[in-house]
Amino acid sequence: MTDCLFCKIANRDIPSDIVFEDEQVIAFRDISPAAPVHTLVIPKKHISTINDIGEEDQSLIGHMVLTAKKLAADNKLPGFRVVMNCNKEGGQTVFHIHLHLLGGRQLTSMG
Ligand code: 5GP
Ligand code: ZN
Repeated sequence: MTDCLFCKIANRDIPSDIVFEDEQVIAFRDISPAAPVHTLVIPKKHISTINDIGEEDQSLIGHMVLTAKKLAADNKLPGFRVVMNCNKEGGQTVFHIHLHLLGGRQLTSMG
């Protein structure tokens, strides 16, 4: 997708602090971190929202979760949170799916 911020980050058209990449996903630090560790894991494939995930994407979504788990271990996080927002009402602001990996401080209840 040409006009997608995270596609541009994945293509390195826009700089970001990339912490991990493989053939399916890329992970980079959130520009406005909500915790000491706040990393975004995105698929290289453009998918706008959770509602646009298809049956064919099941392994890709699983790979995103396993990538978040690996990054949590790399950061020696004893506990962490993984969040994926869906649609404006769900707090989504960038319409290319992404897992937020949050950790490095005591996390409390969500609001
Ligand atoms: P959402 O609100 O869609 O769940 O999360 C989007 C996240 O992307 C936000 O936490 C926001 O800080 C982050 N973000 C927005 N623009 C950029 C950017 O240009 N670079 C990086 N690294 N993160 C961004
Ligand atoms: Zn995209």
